[in-house]
Amino acid sequence: MPPLLPCRYLMRMVLRLKVLSACRALCHCAFRVVSWLPVVIVAIMLIWGYFVYVYIMNISGTFPKSSNEAISVLISVVFLFVGHVIYALLISSYVRTIYAKHKKVPHEFHLTDAQLASMDESVDCRELLREMASDLPVQTASRNGSIRYCDNCEIIKPDRCHHCSVCGTCILKMDHHCPWVNNCVGHSNYKYFVLFLFYTVVLALWVCATGLYDFIRAWTDILHSTPAYKFQVIFCYFISAMFGFTTSFLLSFHVYLVCWNRTTLENMQYPVYEGSPYRRLYHLGVKRNLQQVFGKTLLRALLPVSTSEGDGVSFPLHISCTRLAMHNNHHSNHRGNEEAILEAGHTSDSEVELFTSDHKLETQPLTKNTQL
Ligand SMILES: [Zn+2]
Ligand SMILES: [Zn+2]
Repeated sequence: MPPLLPCRYLMRMVLRLKVLSACRALCHCAFRVVSWLPVVIVAIMLIWGYFVYVYIMNISGTFPKSSNEAISVLISVVFLFVGHVIYALLISSYVRTIYAKHKKVPHEFHLTDAQLASMDESVDCRELLREMASDLPVQTASRNGSIRYCDNCEIIKPDRCHHCSVCGTCILKMDHHCPWVNNCVGHSNYKYFVLFLFYTVVLALWVCATGLYDFIRAWTDILHSTPAYKFQVIFCYFISAMFGFTTSFLLSFHVYLVCWNRTTLENMQYPVYEGSPYRRLYHLGVKRNLQQVFGKTLLRALLPVSTSEGDGVSFPLHISCTRLAMHNNHHSNHRGNEEAILEAGHTSDSEVELFTSDHKLETQPLTKNTQL
């Protein structure tokens, strides 16, 4: 074999690898651009909607609110003031959902090189993982009873944490990956996401309510406004009604989830605790559940500021409250479990924290009847 041949072969291989890595980088870049497309569409709709409502319907004078000019201006000022407040809250909630930095899984959940090596050598990883997780605040398991482990991130998954294949990382208290915000919705930004849905519905209702008169006039062609303006008012009204209607369903679903302290993923597949799936594993009562996400005051709940409780790693369990209620009612235990659980939902904060601060207390399974 001539000596040049291996060199050529090697060069060809290097070239091929370079082309492959360039293609991969290009695909990655294209994916990143495409993933921002839904956000760009929402942004265009919001900017265009702002122009139609603020300028065409209230400033241009094409759609006067009354025959009296002073009253017309006054009505427009009120409409614009309230509209701007809702719009600002919507935009800030949306931006915070998009740019929320998800908290990293604490380092104690990461496996060390030695632990990874022993995993590779081990025949039964389940027992090994159980040993590794013995000092961690992990209470739930996978369907087959083994400790939840992420191969990609090489971590023991904290409770309610899931791996997102789009973001390529594990997200604490993951709800779902939302393409409309190009981000995962999880412990760090769930409140902002729900507020974004809420203010979308509120803004849609506001536009539909205050723009009805303009819509009817544009539709029935009473005014001598330009066709472009009429078309935009009609289109904006339909879009608002459609977005408001569809988003209200999504909002209702998430309000339901918050009230039951469940994520979208947990709603599809209940978390497994002590070998059994529990429908209400984190349910602490509707009030406490709402406080966990929205905080304790209404004003802070409505503002896109951080109010979510906890570290996103460990969570008080409903079952702990149930046991507390059962314990409290030990001497008058003639009631069914369901009643005890209802009472548990009304236990005070200190009681819940007291009973769940030491997870090691929760080792004995309850009877089958207490699974909810
Ligand atoms: Zn992961
Ligand atoms: Zn994601």
